[in-house]
Amino acid sequence: MIWRSRTARTLPPMTESQPTHVVPLEAGAGPENPPCPACGEPLFGWLAARPYLRGPTSRCESCGLGVVGASSGAAEALRELDRLGEETGVRIVNRASFTCSLGGAGWSGLGPEAHYLFTVESVRRLVAGRDQVVGSRRWAPLASLAITWQSLLNSVTLGHNVALGALGRGQAAPAPKTWQRRIDALASIVLAIPALLIAVPLELAGGLLRRGAVYRLNFELL
Ligand SMILES: [Zn+2]
Repeated sequence: MIWRSRTARTLPPMTESQPTHVVPLEAGAGPENPPCPACGEPLFGWLAARPYLRGPTSRCESCGLGVVGASSGAAEALRELDRLGEETGVRIVNRASFTCSLGGAGWSGLGPEAHYLFTVESVRRLVAGRDQVVGSRRWAPLASLAITWQSLLNSVTLGHNVALGALGRGQAAPAPKTWQRRIDALASIVLAIPALLIAVPLELAGGLLRRGAVYRLNFELL
């Protein structure tokens, strides 16, 4: 069984005299809910498998880290984190962004190459294991806008990340049939400007509320 929970599941009291029962996240741990590589809390099911993903997707409800397919643990997550930059800093597509919350499976941070889906908090926990702290976080507005724009387009196309793929910005998962790919190309062109007009205020709000789509994080040694 895949557990779904917020930070803690609260059962309503039967009467006013009975105490509120709170089940900690740890109670959900088990073979189907392995520990989060960043913080150790159990991972819960998030999205079903899709043809272009390496497997079903789970997420940590404590630090927000997402995992596509299986995880081998913190060392692997750190290696993938370092591929996003270098040991002094990285640029992450934020799984805790407005865009991800609204986009769900259409979020463009999900793609054929996606394995670990980072948040600022999950990065903070991961790098703490090698005596580093996140010294600064900077919202990357243009990269964020591109992610939000593509996530909106993903909601109307049959393929995934088609527009950014065509622009050479990441790996697309095209629709399987030729006629579907033609429809996707047409939809991406026709809806490019309308999607941009929605993406701009959405991403501005995300950036202002520290839930932008892309962040640059710099690390410092403890
Ligand atoms: Zn976690």
